[in-house]
Amino acid sequence: MAKYGRILLKLSGESLMGGQQYGIDVNRLNSYAEQIKSVADMGVQISIVIGGGNIFRGLSGASKGYDRVKGDQMGMLATVINSLALSSALVAIGQKARVLTAIRMEPIGEIYSKWKAIESMENGEVVILSCGTGNPFFTTDTGSSLRGIEIEADVMLKGTRVDGVYTADPEKDPSAVKFESISYDEVYSRGLKVMDMTATVMCKENNLPIVVFDMDTPGNLERLMNGENIGTYVHA
Ligand code: UDP
Repeated sequence: MAKYGRILLKLSGESLMGGQQYGIDVNRLNSYAEQIKSVADMGVQISIVIGGGNIFRGLSGASKGYDRVKGDQMGMLATVINSLALSSALVAIGQKARVLTAIRMEPIGEIYSKWKAIESMENGEVVILSCGTGNPFFTTDTGSSLRGIEIEADVMLKGTRVDGVYTADPEKDPSAVKFESISYDEVYSRGLKVMDMTATVMCKENNLPIVVFDMDTPGNLERLMNGENIGTYVHA
């Protein structure tokens, strides 16, 4: 029996790039789809929020002169592109999947509601929640914590290319040490960039634990469901 009954999985847009500089690496996409299906096959209910940083970020657009709100809307549309790609990859391997959108855009996807998401998960569909929160000035990290809380997920799993939370950025500082677990408050007081602060505070206030783990190593998602102690557990 899986450790968690219902999960909210956050995948960054950037990780979808794989070895590329931009866009979607099909091998990475398919590897994610396989991992997600293997966990769905265990009976875990799964909702996924994907970022859009592999295509567009509102903040970097603003630095180039785009209006911030329009830039953020472009970023949200980027999450829709990634969501459609993932749902297509899942369906191709026989996993039912459904994209819901925080901004109305039928027929691309139905508008999100908590009830639709839960009903779909209960019917064995993987639900992909696109457009983040649907509002500018937010991120998909915040979208993930919001949706994770709404759909009553047992945990929010933040899949990244790093295998957990470190005292410093391990890609820059070789002396950085990994935390097995850490409290929300310590994340804040140490100024660690696990997720953006709004997202972390929302998880704290609503008691949604986070596991930060390396999603790029195939099998890790299944290991987490089997109760293996990988990644970093962020808790109250
Ligand atoms: N975005 C937004 N509101 C949201 C979620 C995302 O405006 O609720 C925009 C924002 O411009 C962001 C972009 O979409 O930069 C892509 O999301 P994010 O940067 O979180 O993607 P990731 O870093 O995970 O690839």
